[in-house]
Formats: sequence, structure tokens, C-alpha cells
Amino acid sequence: MTKETLRELVREAPVAPGVYIFRDKKGAYLYVGKAKDLSARLSSYLTSDNPRTRALLRRAASLEWLVTSSEAEALFTESSLVRFQKPPFNIRLAGGEYYPYIKITVKETWPQIFPTRKLVEDGSLYFGPYPDAAAARRTIQAIRSLFPIRPCKYSLPSKRVSLCIYYHMGRCPGPCENEVDPEVYAGYIRGAVDLLSGKTKEAEAELERAMTKAAAELRFEAAAAIRDRLLALRKTLAAPAGFGEGGESRDIVVVKAGGNIAAVSLIALREGRPGVEERFLMEAPDEADPAEVMSAFLKDYYTSRPVNCERLVCVPLPEERELLEEALSERAGRRIRITPPTKSDKNFTEIASLAAEEHLARAVERMRKPIHPGLRELAEVMGAGEMRRIEAFDISHTAGRETTASCVVFLDGKPAKSLYRRFRIRTARPSDDYAAMREVIFRRLRRLIEEKEGLPDAILIDGGPGQLGAGLEAMEALGVNIPAAALAKRYEELYLPDGGHIILPGKSKALLLLKRIRDEAHRFAVSYHRTLRGKRGMESVLDGLEGIGAARKKALLRYFGSLERLRGASLEEIEKVPGIGKKLARKIYESLR
Ligand code: SF4
Repeated sequence: MTKETLRELVREAPVAPGVYIFRDKKGAYLYVGKAKDLSARLSSYLTSDNPRTRALLRRAASLEWLVTSSEAEALFTESSLVRFQKPPFNIRLAGGEYYPYIKITVKETWPQIFPTRKLVEDGSLYFGPYPDAAAARRTIQAIRSLFPIRPCKYSLPSKRVSLCIYYHMGRCPGPCENEVDPEVYAGYIRGAVDLLSGKTKEAEAELERAMTKAAAELRFEAAAAIRDRLLALRKTLAAPAGFGEGGESRDIVVVKAGGNIAAVSLIALREGRPGVEERFLMEAPDEADPAEVMSAFLKDYYTSRPVNCERLVCVPLPEERELLEEALSERAGRRIRITPPTKSDKNFTEIASLAAEEHLARAVERMRKPIHPGLRELAEVMGAGEMRRIEAFDISHTAGRETTASCVVFLDGKPAKSLYRRFRIRTARPSDDYAAMREVIFRRLRRLIEEKEGLPDAILIDGGPGQLGAGLEAMEALGVNIPAAALAKRYEELYLPDGGHIILPGKSKALLLLKRIRDEAHRFAVSYHRTLRGKRGMESVLDGLEGIGAARKKALLRYFGSLERLRGASLEEIEKVPGIGKKLARKIYESLR
């Protein structure tokens, strides 16, 4: 953007608080800022010789603004836009997908609540960030114990969904079959939103309202259940008696910046008692000024979750300290102070400093780690972008029977065994490898989509063009497009979706990596297949034995796992299986010999 264009635009800018947005020529957000006076703030861009500002103006193609009622409102609007749009010139939490948030789908008729790492502007409410998925899940559990929000992820209303076990266990009020009054369910959602926003009084009031309504409608069982939830909420909110009484509630926040990354450590002290410690990384477009990073962090963190304390102890103090105090106090409905550490904060500030330093050192170390050379080469071959996560699939069966499939996951070129999955093929006809591959890839990706987990960066299939075609069909059916390839065994040809195939040189790092992934998928599929075959063999042997019903067969299967192991077992060992007496053990022992 030339200075002339900028000058003309600035002339139009109002003398009012608001948010301004610079976009590039494709319309993508480059920078979002907020101002007490848009006209004055934007005029300063005309004279700035800050290298970051100059770089921004070189890339900017347009400028627009939104007028807000106050500077505090501008601050929240700015924070929300930065969170969703991730403009490259703003300081923000590192890796939008990295930290989990809690999402409440308030636009749905029967809203859901679940953790997510994807922020989408779909009208839903997001709370967080949380340092890890477990923390977000624990919060959701606590909320569900107070407000029975449905745990399923069906799109409701739907004729195909009916009351499930959660309803019968009293953990869901059954909106799928209109078992709950929409107003009462909306009250539960409001209660959850209030709790996540720190408005505990309002959450209490919601439960009281729901209880009174249920009692007035003579639904005494429902009223009693709500009363129990209300009591649980009051108990949770009650101050811990006799522990740290008189202690002040405060959050200690320390920022350590290094280059274009910064680490934040936050220790929550409640009633003088240390609570959780959380750590975050912030990305800065340039050398980060710690005060600026602190300001960006406080905006991001506290604008979407409650401020449950009276004081934020910050090292260093944030830029725009007074404005932040004003905005956070307005939001919390009571005075929130931002201060440097006092004498009584010293110990905890030191702990937080060490934690932030350690977190930063680890992040820098991770960034220094070179990308696996095979991944770089593979990304070029497959025409893919960043290739962190590869999932590979293989099918195994015995003459068309006991068909199983494996999915192995490699992260940064290394197996992530905890993410491996195996499947029993349900719909494909015996020996139809293509249909089996279609089924497994469809089921795996559908699950990732439904659970809102990220999709892999690439898919590798053990097989040739037929298996690859089946995989592509599965993706098409789900409306996803993931770079994929199939590696055939004989000449190690790599088949690509455009119909072509290549033979990589024997020493190619990409080929070595592909072979390793493919072989691991094969090993995993075969081992599962053997286990199933073993179990099936054992079942058929046991079927002919008098006195062995389904329960005993299950006990033997659980104890030995395979026919081979049962065959090799001593009489004493068989006797140890629960439910198998001496007589029966002898019968089994003899029949296997
Ligand atoms: S009862 Fe209905 S709404 Fe509730 S979890 Fe089950 S399927 Fe979902």
C-alpha cells in the first residue's frame, strides 16, 4: 500500500474508538489493531519508521475499520479477530491448533459442548485456551455434572436417533426424543456459558429456575435431580474452610521471550493456595517485546474465560496496563488489578519464571530439530505441503476370511504407536481387497471428522493403483482431499492419484521412510489378523466340548488369548481360569492332546 493511498484512507477514519484491519491483496488478514481514536492511531502509520510497520504496509492492499462503543470493547473485538483470523503480523498463541478450547454450539437447536482445537467462526462460543486436552475434558465433566448437556454428537433433531444409555443413566435429559423442555435445556446451556465465563451467581440462578419450573409442573423427580446439582454447585463454589483463609486470590503470569517465540507460565493462587500451573507459547512476528507479548497473552487468555481472582501479578507489566485493568474489571463486574510482584509473591514468581524459561528452552530446541529429510523429499514427490502426520493402511486375511485392516500413524517420521488403530472389516465381500480398503479409510477418516480431530497430512496405502483408487473413493465420499499414494511391493513403485507412478532411487530417503511405514502397517495388520484367527480357532475347538458355554469360552479366551497358548498350557494353569473347575480343566486338557 502506498503512502498516498494510506493518507487518503486515514482522512476518512473517524475520531472514535474501534478496531482496524489491514488485509493483503487476496483479502487475507495481515494485522488487526485497536485504538481509542482510530483517526489518530491510523495517522501514526504515516510517520512510523518501525521495520515491522514498514513490512506490513508493503504487503497491505486494503484497510478497514469497525467503530466500537468504547476502547474496552475494541480490545475484546481485536482479541476475538486475532484468535479466529490468526493475522501474521499480530502476536498470538503459537499454533492455533495447538491448544484446546471448549466449544458450545449455541446455534444448534440442542447445543453440544466438547473440546476442540479448531476455531471456526460458525456462531459457536469458544472458551479457553486450556493447556492440554485433559484440562479441557475435566472442565467439561465438571460442567456436565451440574448441567446435563447431551454427550452425543448427532445432528439433532433426527428421526434416526433415539434415547440411548446416557438417558437411562440419567446423564442426558433426552433431547433427541424431546424428553426435555427446550427452555429447560436452553437454561442448562446458559448455565454452562455462565460458569465458563465466571458468572457463578447466574449459573446458580439458572438451576434454581429449572428446579422451580420442574416442581411447578409436578415433575418432582426432575426437580430433585436439579436440586442435587444446585447443592453440588454451591459446594464447589464454597471457599475451602480453614485453608489459607484470608489469602488473596491472584494469578502469577511470567513471560520469557526469545526471538520470535515467547513462553508464558501462569500459576493460579486461590485463597492463598497454589492451584494449577499452565504453560503456553506465543508466536511473535519479529523480535518480541515481552511487555507486548504479555499484553497479547492477557487479552487472549482472559477475554474468553473467567478472571477468578482480584489481582494479576505480571512480569513484565503489560503494555496498556490501565486499559486492560479497565476492560477486565468491566467484564468481571469487580475491580481487577494488574501489578508487579510484591514481597509475598516472590516465591511463586520465581517458580513461574523457571517454568517459563524451561518451556521456552524446550520450544527453541524443538524448532532447531531438523525436519526428517525423507519427509521433505516425500512432500515434493506427493505435491503436499507440510507433512507431519502420515497414516498408512493395510489389509490382511486368510483366503478371504477374518479380514482385518490396520492404520498406523507416523509423526515427524516416527511411529506414534498410541495412535495406531485396527479394524475388522464389516461390509466388504470376502477377498475384495479394494472394498476393504475403501471401508477402512472411510471409517477412519469419518471418525476423525466426527471427533473433530485433525486429518492426516498424507495417506499411504500398501498396494497398487486399485487400492489407491479405493482410498480416493472413500475420501471423495467424505468430501476430503488428502495427498495419497500407494506403494506396491514388487518393484516398490509409488502410485499417485493422477494415475502415474514413479520408482524412487533405492537410496532415496523418501523411499526408505515409505517402506518403513508400509512395512509397519503390514506388521500391525498381520498381528491383529493372527490374534483373531487364533481366537476363532480356539472357539471352534471349544465349541464341541460339553460344559463350555459362552461365558467359560470367553474366560478361556481372555486368559490364554490363542489356541496355541491354551494347547501349551499345563493342567494346573487351565484350572486357574475363573469358572473352570478341576473336572472341566482335565476335559479341556485331554481334548487338546
Ligand atoms: S439420549 Fe439422545 S440426545 Fe441424549 S446422548 Fe443419547 S442419543 Fe444423544
